[in-house]
Amino acid sequence: MSDDLLKALELIEGMSMKSYEVTVIGTGPAGGQCARELSQQGFRVLLVDRAKSFLENNYSSGAAPLELMDKFQLPETVLGTYWNHFRIRSTQAQAIWTSSTPSGVIVDFDKLRAFLAAETERAGGEFHLGWQYQHHQQHDRFLEVFLKDLITGEVFSVSTTVLVDATGTERKVLASLPSKHRTVIATGIEYHIQVNPDVYQTYAHALNFFLGHHWMPQGYSWIFPMAGSQLKVGVIRYFQDQKYVPYEPSYKIYLQRMLDLCGHYEIEDRHGKTLYYTRGQKDVRHRGAVLAIGDAISSINPLGWEGIRHAMVSGRLAAQSIQKYLRQETNDFRSYDQSLRRYFGHKWLGAELFMHQLYKTKHDSFVDQSVQAFNLMNQKEILQVVFDYQFRYALKSYFYYFLSRLKSGYQSYGRTS
Ligand SMILES: Cc1cc2nc3c(=O)[nH]c(=O)nc-3n(C[C@H](O)[C@H](O)[C@H](O)COP(=O)(O)OP(=O)(O)OC[C@H]3O[C@@H](n4cnc5c(N)ncnc54)[C@H](O)[C@@H]3O)c2cc1C
Repeated sequence: MSDDLLKALELIEGMSMKSYEVTVIGTGPAGGQCARELSQQGFRVLLVDRAKSFLENNYSSGAAPLELMDKFQLPETVLGTYWNHFRIRSTQAQAIWTSSTPSGVIVDFDKLRAFLAAETERAGGEFHLGWQYQHHQQHDRFLEVFLKDLITGEVFSVSTTVLVDATGTERKVLASLPSKHRTVIATGIEYHIQVNPDVYQTYAHALNFFLGHHWMPQGYSWIFPMAGSQLKVGVIRYFQDQKYVPYEPSYKIYLQRMLDLCGHYEIEDRHGKTLYYTRGQKDVRHRGAVLAIGDAISSINPLGWEGIRHAMVSGRLAAQSIQKYLRQETNDFRSYDQSLRRYFGHKWLGAELFMHQLYKTKHDSFVDQSVQAFNLMNQKEILQVVFDYQFRYALKSYFYYFLSRLKSGYQSYGRTS
């Protein structure tokens, strides 16, 4: 068969399938935002997710700084609540920062994703839950994407010019899971619980983090408020296969320790997920007409696993690059790489280093000392460390903390000698 005939056949084959300019696999924050922006620009977009309902994988705690709302024009309907207190408690120390105005939000992960999908549809895009990506095939002029309808069991294909891997940390389309030695792995488990209103008040409007061996060795725990009297209570452990400090073999004991702080409670939902972050963010970001976004390219920050905002940014940057590609202003996605490099800068590397210091330390006293040192920062500074990865403020606080310890040690030595 001649090349021309093959191309003509492929064209007919492509025409008999439903065809899109962009197909986005995964309706997390990354995929939802990317599809939303492209459909608003008038492109033919297909957005799918294998989950049959957003409640099926409602795994994220949803804490973010306030800028998330404006940056992505999100309505209050996706909100759990606002927070204006930030607390860290370790085995022996605690620090509290308070502001009179909201510093951030806790989004309802289920509602956020439903909103992004609805926006995509409203702008003319197509969206389906219960459609699972199987594989794809490169043809001369288009990509054929094989999908399975998980309700009917039917496998069918669609044609697309650009394919986006927004399948999160599982990386189902473009790349496979990175090898263990190149990866930071952490598993998080979270319960949604209903508590008495007086207990709820203790945790209302606050991000509560718990560090140190008593609360969660090699990781941290948290209690975040939602609307009503609902709390999100969770634990996450880094480096599960490597024991840097002695710990109980089970997550359950630490989760129970958190739940014990909440008085009488009723469990409404349980979920968990293992996160894979590639050191140095060395994931494959695009190949041919396939791009990856969000957790699939390690946009999540490994210090505290804040990932929603960064996943949405990567979705936006990919959408900008895809627009140029579809308008034939460029024939590759190098501009996507460049804009990601500008966004991440060296901050994610700094976060990797800081994460190792904080969670790998054998000495619980170092975590207590860190919390005491952080106490020297004001609220703006601690939030710049936690959400903007400006580690110079943390280094400054360590410097002054250890300097004051040296001074008081020297003074007490002077008094005794
Ligand atoms: C316990 C826990 C708590 C967290 N808390 C926070 C927090 O407080 N704040 C914060 O900012 N971040 C938090 N994160 C991280 C954050 O949720 C993620 O970084 C973010 O959701 C990543 O977005 P994403 O769109 O890249 O991937 P995801 O949100 O994981 O979305 C990927 C989607 O792809 C779908 N998919 C996968 N495979 C297929 C397939 N074969 N076919 C079709 N669809 C498929 C999945 O069903 C999923 O819906 C938390 C993570 C964990 C585990």
